[in-house]
Amino acid sequence: MDGRCAMFQTYVSCHLWDLVDEGIDEVLGRLKGEAGADGVSVTVACPRVGLLRPHRGVSPRTFRSEGGLQFQPNKDAYAATRLRPVVAEWLRKTNPLAAVAEGCERLGLSLRGRIVGCHSEALASRHEFVAVKDVFGDLHPAWLCPSNPDVREYLRALVSDLSTSYPFAALEIEAASFPPAGGRNWGRETCADLGPTGEWLLGLCFCESCRQAATGEGIDAAAAARSATVLLERALATGEPVPKSVEALVASDQILGDYAAWGVRQVTGLIELLRGACRCRLVVRRAGDRLTTGSDFAAISAHCDALLTSPPEPADEVEPVVQAAVADAGELGKVEVGVSACAPACPDSTTLVRALSTAARLGVRTAVVENYGLLPTRRLDWIKQAARYAVRESE
Ligand SMILES: [Zn+2]
Repeated sequence: MDGRCAMFQTYVSCHLWDLVDEGIDEVLGRLKGEAGADGVSVTVACPRVGLLRPHRGVSPRTFRSEGGLQFQPNKDAYAATRLRPVVAEWLRKTNPLAAVAEGCERLGLSLRGRIVGCHSEALASRHEFVAVKDVFGDLHPAWLCPSNPDVREYLRALVSDLSTSYPFAALEIEAASFPPAGGRNWGRETCADLGPTGEWLLGLCFCESCRQAATGEGIDAAAAARSATVLLERALATGEPVPKSVEALVASDQILGDYAAWGVRQVTGLIELLRGACRCRLVVRRAGDRLTTGSDFAAISAHCDALLTSPPEPADEVEPVVQAAVADAGELGKVEVGVSACAPACPDSTTLVRALSTAARLGVRTAVVENYGLLPTRRLDWIKQAARYAVRESE
């Protein structure tokens, strides 16, 4: 059913709260009938959200949540980590994921789960010892360090729990990396323009886990921190950006370069660990890169079944990202496309049809269209048209 067959498969991503509020069987029926979906991708772990929902009758109209797990975890699976799973508050004691899995089976829809890995306000605020820490020792309010052993064990347990307890055809994981560089991602304002290199330096994690583990592998983490501090202090004092590009800095400062490269290996190693724990296909969202999130997708692709890549706006700019993903993955069979059907990325049905047909014509066989609960209802028909054209293109 999933990915490898010759026929083009269209998934629609959904949030569990939308399925519950509108009726699980009703929504699944609409996705199959009105959107022509072959499957659904439900978010099972996510960060904080605030969404204005367009569908008539949903209540509350604005859905807000601190995020967390969107299902009831099997607590025993998490015994080896100090991170206690946080279940999203809106679920209380319920577990609609089980009913969604049954509904999908009944309707012949393939089921996927989407995990947002290290981006979690719920966990970072409760367990400060696992949060990413900048060179000044300040904690990231929303991001778990991917090299921290407790974070790694937690994510391993999560993937194992989900892929054991539910009939997922695949788990999609994203943000299993360092946070994207840039002050805004840390929720802080600053006067100084640090420049891309300054933002990059400020984005490097110097938490105790990173320092200890890197030092243990012969990397001089303390010296790397001193280099980063000197450059950042100068930029903050003068208000002038760090002058060199990241590439030039890394080339001229071996210690800093080694430390950053070590971080990249941590991210690849985390995906390898998750692959070992995952009993279904593991798909990794291709977002960020070596410099922005420590994600080396050419290396990561060796440890997953596919890379899920998304075009920038507009949504039909599919070809460049597919080619880039093929360059990373080494083969077309390991590339999937994620497309937003929301405005402004997707202003009309033609854009969506073109996005999926282009993907199909290039040889891609799986697309994930986002996101049911955010889409005006009439756009379900856009998905149906796009899916139909893509199937035709793939025959
Ligand atoms: Zn760290």
